[in-house]
Order: sequence, then structure tokens, then C-alpha cells
Amino acid sequence: MGSELTAGNFGLKTWNSTAMVVNGDVLYIANSQAESNILRYDLKQKRALSAIDPVKISGLAKKWDSLNDLEIQAGRLYVANYGSNRIDILDISSEQPSFIMALGTGVWWGDALNYSLVHSNAVTADDRYVYVPDIEGRINVWRQSDVTAQNHLKARKFARLSLPGCARNCNARMEVMGDYLYTSLPDGMTYVHDINQIQENGNNITPILTETNLSAVMHRHNDGLVYVSRNDGTVESYREKSFNLDSILPNKSEDTFRDYILKGQNQSSRIAKASDLYIYGQNLLHMANQKIHILPMLTLQQNKSTQLNQAMILTESQARERSRVLQDGESWETLTNSSQRHVYMDKILSATLNGNRLHLQSYSAVPVRDLQIRAKIKNSEDWVILAKLDQLTPFSKANFGLKLTDQSRFPLLDGTGSIQLAGLSQTTQNPSNVFDLKISSETDEHVKKLNQIKAKWKIYFGTYDEPNKWCRITPVYAREWVMMMTNLAYMLSTPEFETLWFNHKAVMGHDFFGNDGQVEGPNGFFQPEDYVRIYREILNRNEINLGITNMGGGLGGGAVLGVDTWLFYGHYRLSGYRIIAHEFGHHWGGHNSAWAMSNYGFEAMVDWLNFYFQRRPGSIPYMDPNVNTFHLTPDSALCQGVNQNMVKGVALTAPWNKVDEYFKNNPMPKQ
Ligand SMILES: [Zn+2]
Repeated sequence: MGSELTAGNFGLKTWNSTAMVVNGDVLYIANSQAESNILRYDLKQKRALSAIDPVKISGLAKKWDSLNDLEIQAGRLYVANYGSNRIDILDISSEQPSFIMALGTGVWWGDALNYSLVHSNAVTADDRYVYVPDIEGRINVWRQSDVTAQNHLKARKFARLSLPGCARNCNARMEVMGDYLYTSLPDGMTYVHDINQIQENGNNITPILTETNLSAVMHRHNDGLVYVSRNDGTVESYREKSFNLDSILPNKSEDTFRDYILKGQNQSSRIAKASDLYIYGQNLLHMANQKIHILPMLTLQQNKSTQLNQAMILTESQARERSRVLQDGESWETLTNSSQRHVYMDKILSATLNGNRLHLQSYSAVPVRDLQIRAKIKNSEDWVILAKLDQLTPFSKANFGLKLTDQSRFPLLDGTGSIQLAGLSQTTQNPSNVFDLKISSETDEHVKKLNQIKAKWKIYFGTYDEPNKWCRITPVYAREWVMMMTNLAYMLSTPEFETLWFNHKAVMGHDFFGNDGQVEGPNGFFQPEDYVRIYREILNRNEINLGITNMGGGLGGGAVLGVDTWLFYGHYRLSGYRIIAHEFGHHWGGHNSAWAMSNYGFEAMVDWLNFYFQRRPGSIPYMDPNVNTFHLTPDSALCQGVNQNMVKGVALTAPWNKVDEYFKNNPMPKQ
């Protein structure tokens, strides 16, 4: 359970905490004011210690006009005081801090290239150097051997590194790792300088790596891990050994922390982007928006044994709370509120653990049965069965109380034994999302299909409402939209579509092409790498805002996807997926491209693939119009009435097409 350190812990009404550093059990906090001080807190005893007041330190006896950063290295405290144009260096190896000297001249004017410091934005130090970004787009470098009392306010800079993004109040955070200096700015811009390139009088030494939107703070801890606050707030840990020069961060993180729960709260919160970050024991000390949170990062001990164990049994009817979604009578406001109503196509059945509550959700249009709630502890390869569940009602939510203790033992999915998780009783209040959860079934064919969907789109329902263009969505439309998108996501996730896509020319008789049409060139015919890139984009398309058009077809592009009423029952029939694919394709291209051009490319391929599946009963998730009975909805409750001729046109009688022909000649290997 996390806790917050506030001004009150120091007997203060308010504070302005801007940076922190840990030395042993003591946390140092920069309390930045016109006359600043450094607050100290004993993390072990959980109590405030005396503050460091510069005016009372002999030899220093000057105020700190705003503090931007602190650093402790080899028993020395480095204080970046922005308005005072100095880095004050104190010896903290004994009980009372004593002043050593200051870098800079204490004023911003004068010889800024060699001596004076035009405001100090940050500070870090290693055995060789002290590094200080100023507001003139550079990092000033002094040698440690020049940090002497004799050089007080007159040490000559040894070299300067270029830091183009750093101007007034750039609040850089720096970390030395081996021979490299990592500098992160609040917008995520991150630079790496090679320390071995530093030479006397070197000027504008350029970074060897630069990346945008990467990290706001990087902190190397003595546990062999580097903790990184990413631009979205997520904190990731990486093995220090895995850092290399291919990119600033290694490919694979060890752990990820997104959420936390504070003492006295019952809701978890997202971690905000850090302004500073430290590790103390098993705790993440996290500073953001002038708040300091102490968040335990428990690492679970997995005790694996061959002891067989029964899974916990849950019954839907015994859920603590149950509710339905997208049901007739649900208000338009709720339906179109995307925070309340949305589905990720690869998580139509989903499970989340929050505290001792297990939340389950189904956007399946048919009941799903004989379920397993499977769990995998992050960074482990072992899946366990957290619980078994008899069924989930279509379009529903249910939550269960789930009391997990250190004694809880879970059967391994592969049947070889079980796992006990020590430390589990505390993990429900852990800042990290400890488990990956998944709802599966060994017997329910519909669940198996849903779990084969690779498309990650988030779908929700738009507030479209415009005469002769858009009709307001209603629950029956919303349910059918989910079903149509499930079928589309499923079809595009199949090995069949993958085969067709990567053999486009062999199937369709032409290569795919962009907005320039059937010409050679960047927006013309696809090259092999274009197929690879776009295949990935199709599955990773972001958000899709669904609507009901009333214009004789549909509308697509950007995040928008709307189709007319007849498609909502016609997709089971001869209307098929042609228009849905056409509008879906407008996300990438116009009518001159193979995205939305009748018998060319995507529109035709998806339409024909659907008819190919229609000839194979049970091949896609939804093939029965009587599940939602959209076609039986009274005309008065629809945007346009139901065309009975269309209802009669059976899809599997659609004419033989190029997809049928291709798979006849090139059968898919039996699964
Ligand atoms: Zn179009």
C-alpha cells in the first residue's frame, strides 16, 4: 500500500518540492522558494530530520534562490540553485553538513563560456566530473579535481556539451551509466553523451544518441536496474547490463508500474509523469506535481511444486454485482459514453483484478461457458488457473470478491503442479499490474475464436446525429455493430487473410496500390515492405468511432466508421462485408486506391473472404442472424426499414470468387 509524503510531515503548511535524492536511509527534498531549504526525512524511522538551511552553514551563508536539482555522490551533496547561478557543494559524510565550495561565479554575467553559470537547471556528478546544464543549451563540465575550497566561485570549466533542448527552466534530469551521460527533459527528449569524448576546452560536444518522447527521468539503482519514467507516466525498469547504443532504452523491460493505491483509498490511480524518481529498498519514491509517493514494488516469490491443486470455482449467479450493457432501454448518453462503453477487439472477454475484486466483462453476443480465468505473473512464463467460472451472460459485467492470501495455491495450466505466491496478500495494493489475465475455455468454440483475434482496435459508439446523414445509435444497432466488428476483426486475424494479403497479386491479379493508383512510385504499387507495414497497421489500427449512416452506403476515414441500416442484417446475406470493408479502408486511402475501389484490393478481398467463410458453417464468430434478430426489429425503431428481399438473399449462394478459386488451388494447411 502506497503512502504520500506531504508538507505536513515536516510541520509545514505548504512546500514546493522540486527534486529529491536518497543517501542511506535519508531522503533529501529540495523545497524551492525565494529562500529555499533542503528537507530531510528518515525513511527507516519514518520521521522528519532537521532541514539544511544554507544561511546557517558557515562558509556558505548565502540563500538559495530556487532549487532545481540535488545530487549526492561520494559523500558530497550538490545543490543546483537556479536563481543564485551556483552549484553549492557540501560535505555530508559527517553529522553536520559542511561547505566545500561553489561552482559558477554566483552571477550570470561575465565569462559564461569559462566561469560563470547562467542559471543551473540540474546537476549530476561522477568520479571524474560535475555536469551542470544552464539555460544556454549546454551542459557545463567541471573536473572533480577542480572542486576545491581554493577554487570557490572561480573554478574554470573543463568542457561543454551541447544540449539543444535546454533553455529557461528546462528541469533536466541526468544519470551517468558507465561511460555515458543520459539527460532527460520533461517533454521526454533524451540525450546520451559519450563521457570519453570530453576533452579540455571541448565545446559543443554533441550527443551520440537523441530520442524524442522517451523518458522524463532515468534513475540507476544499485540493484542492477535502471528505473525510467516514460512520457505517459509509466515507470519501467531495465537491466543496466542490457543498455547499448542501438537505441537509448533496451528492447525489453523487466517490470512496468502503471497504477498505485494509496492508504485510505479504494481506487487505484495512474502514476503521473515523474519529475524525479528514487528507489529505497523495495519502494519506488516518486515525485510528480509537487507530491511524493512512496510505492511498494513487491516482487512475488513463486513457489512452484508438483503438488496438484484444484482451481477456485466461481459461479456467475453468485457474483457480488452483475449488470448488462448495450441492452434495449439503455440511454443514448450511456451508449455513446466511450469511457463506459467500449471494447478492445482482442479483449472481448476481459478480466481485471483491483484490490480483492475480480472484474469480468463480456462483449460476446452469445453466452460463453466453461471458462477459465487464467493468470500469468509478469515476467514469468507460467500460466496458472486463477479460477474457473461456469458462464458469462452476453454483453454483461460481473464482479467477484476474491480473497488471495500468501497461502493461496493455483494449479499450473499445463497440469504439472501448482504455484504458491508468497507476498501475494500485499500485491493487491501493489503499484504494478502484477498479473496478465485472460479468459479462456478448453471446450467453448466461440471463446476459442474470440481468443484468436489479433486486431487491437478499440471500438466505441459515436454521438453522430444529423438529418439525411447520420441516425442516432440505439442498443440493437450497437450490439450488431459489435458483432460485425468481431467478425471483421476475426477475419482479418485469420491465417487465411494473412495468406491472401501477402499473395495479393496471385490472388487478385494485381498488386495493391495507394492513392496514386496503378503506377510505380511511393503512393502507387505496394513493395514487399509495404505489405508488411500495412498488415501490421491493419491489426493495430487505433480507435474506431462507430455510427449509423443514412446516405445510401456508408462513411469512413480517420477514426470514423459508419454504414447504413441494411448492412446490419445484410452482412449475413448477400450484402456481405463489401461496404464495411470499403469504409474501413478509407482510414488508409481514397477511391483511387486499392482500399476502396470496387473489385480491386481490400474491399473486394474482404468481401470475397467473407463469402468464402460463409460457405463454411461455424467458421467465423457470428453467422446466425437470429442471435440479435436485428432483421425482426420493427421498422419504426430503425433508421431505415428492413428490406425483406435482402433478408432472403442467402450469403453462401454468392457467386464463386477469386478467394474461393485461390484456396481451391492453394488449400490452407489443416490446423
Ligand atoms: Zn468511399
